[in-house]
Amino acid sequence: MARKSIAQRWFLNSFLVVLAILTAIVTASGLLLHNFYYSAVRQSLKARASTVSSILLRYSSGTVGSNFYTEMRSYIESFPDKDYMELMAIDPYGNVSITSSGFSYTSKQDRMPDYQDALTSADGMGYYVGRLSNGQKIMAVTQIVSVVNSEFSAMRFVVSLETVDKVITNLVMGICGAALAVLALVLVFGLLFVRSIVRPVREIGAAARQIARGDLKSRIVKISDDEIGELCETINFMADELENSERLKNEFISSVSHELRTPLTAIKGWAETLMSMESDPATLQKGMRVITAETERLSGMVEELLDFSRIQDGRLKMNFQKMDILAELGEAVLIYTEKARQEDIEVTYREPEMLPFIYGDKNRLRQVFINVIDNAIKYSDPGGSVKIDAFQRGEDILITVADSGIGIQPEDLPKIKTKFFKANYSRRGSGIGLAVADEIIQMHHGSIDIESTPGVGTTVIITIPVRTGEEPAPEEGRLLTQGS
Ligand code: ADP
Repeated sequence: MARKSIAQRWFLNSFLVVLAILTAIVTASGLLLHNFYYSAVRQSLKARASTVSSILLRYSSGTVGSNFYTEMRSYIESFPDKDYMELMAIDPYGNVSITSSGFSYTSKQDRMPDYQDALTSADGMGYYVGRLSNGQKIMAVTQIVSVVNSEFSAMRFVVSLETVDKVITNLVMGICGAALAVLALVLVFGLLFVRSIVRPVREIGAAARQIARGDLKSRIVKISDDEIGELCETINFMADELENSERLKNEFISSVSHELRTPLTAIKGWAETLMSMESDPATLQKGMRVITAETERLSGMVEELLDFSRIQDGRLKMNFQKMDILAELGEAVLIYTEKARQEDIEVTYREPEMLPFIYGDKNRLRQVFINVIDNAIKYSDPGGSVKIDAFQRGEDILITVADSGIGIQPEDLPKIKTKFFKANYSRRGSGIGLAVADEIIQMHHGSIDIESTPGVGTTVIITIPVRTGEEPAPEEGRLLTQGS
């Protein structure tokens, strides 16, 4: 069991509290029952004492001249309740002279504190609860006799408390039993409840550790439809995402390796050709052109990878300055016009007269335009067309690149700007170009929107706000997240 397990916490926070409450209830009900029964017995003794006292008063007045002692004795001896109560007559010296049972209930050494109390109390009544010398528990009430005579000074009523104590004990035992039953139920249901939490949590922990160790296929079976079930779903979702990202990473590594190998093979091939034979100037020139172009392609790819890594750890810096966006767009179009022509793709650029200057990083924006135009050509087939437009709408400059290429499936469209994502593996590319472009445009407070219909074409809309006045505080090096 863990050092501070849920079961221990439940035991301390719930079970011990219930135990304390039940103990308090049992103790309080014991005290209440004790008080209730004892005061009921006391009241009944007191009532009996006043009744007997008034009877004696009647005797003393009604039997003028008769022997009061004889009347008294016969009343005590025939006392109707003598089965459960003893009536005693006490003489003026404080000794028991007559008892209803015929023999002295109290022995000589038994004190009678109730008699002493009665002598001093205003209503002539005394009360005592205690034990006799034989260990028996009694309750006694003494009533001073107001009739003036030489034989009796008081009447004393004594009852044994054993039956009452037994009743109280039985009731308290009953309450204790009920409390124990409640406690047992709380314990059983509490432990079942704790088990129902602890067991799945342990299973979830084991599965999560398995996932952490690299078993990304491992999933947790959702056991319940509550918060624990939700936790299972979240961990499964996390495993899905990890698996997805692991897959994307592997695909990325493989496509980047492939991308790097293609220009390297071309460079190596031409270098060997140029070295091995007596090349004529035309072949030499062609070879050198290929080597230069492929080297540029390689360094472009390495730059893209470096940018991506800069974005990942927040080191991508922007060099904001007042710039002419059309100049950069024009240059990017120019770079690709020849390439498009070679691939039989018609590039149309409707250059506007002029657009307002913006604050931006011209190299980075050119990089974005190159990436988007490169994609438009790359994902178009020979005979296709790419239309580039730039215009102002309100406070924004919009640049649209629309191609008549293969298009993007609707389910892939939301993931297209995600790092490593490639919807189409038949064409070259690392899957990070749009992710980098999106990050750059976001750092210019703009956005990239993509509309596409499979088989019809794709339109990429780059929106950059026109910023006049002070250079905006660039958000440098934000982390590129999976969903960005
Ligand atoms: P890549 O280097 O693979 O082109 P990008 O990040 O530039 O990576 O693009 C991500 C994916 O988006 C591409 O793999 C491709 O499937 C899709 N894509 C981007 N632009 C276009 C386009 N103009 N037409 C069709 N698909 C496109």
